[in-house]
Amino acid sequence: MQPVDVRPVGETEMLILWPDGHRSLYAQRYLRFQCHCAQCIEEWTGRQLISLDQVDSDVHALNISPVGNYAVKFQWSDGHSTGIYSYELLRGICPCKECAAKGPAS
Ligand SMILES: [Zn+2]
Ligand SMILES: [Zn+2]
Repeated sequence: MQPVDVRPVGETEMLILWPDGHRSLYAQRYLRFQCHCAQCIEEWTGRQLISLDQVDSDVHALNISPVGNYAVKFQWSDGHSTGIYSYELLRGICPCKECAAKGPAS
C-alpha cells in the first residue's frame, strides 16, 4: 500500500497518510532506530545492531525521497541515509493503538 502523504510534523514526528484513511504518527527518532540497512540490522538474523540509546534524541529527517513505488528513503540529520523503508515495514511498525493491538504485520 502506497501512502498518500509522508510528511514531517515539526522536527520530532513523521506523519504518514494511507489510502485506506489510516494515519500513522511516528517519532522520527523511532523511525531512525527502525532503519533496516546492513549497518543497522544483521541481514541473516534480523537482529538490530543499534540500540535506541545510540540514536540522537533530536535526530530528524532532512530529506524524504520515494524509492520506486514501494519504499521511501530518509536522509537523517545524524548523517545516516542508507536505509530504505518499505511501505510494508512502515505500516507494520505503526505505533497507534489500533495497530499495536493487531500485533506486527506478518
Ligand atoms: Zn541504517
Ligand atoms: Zn496504525
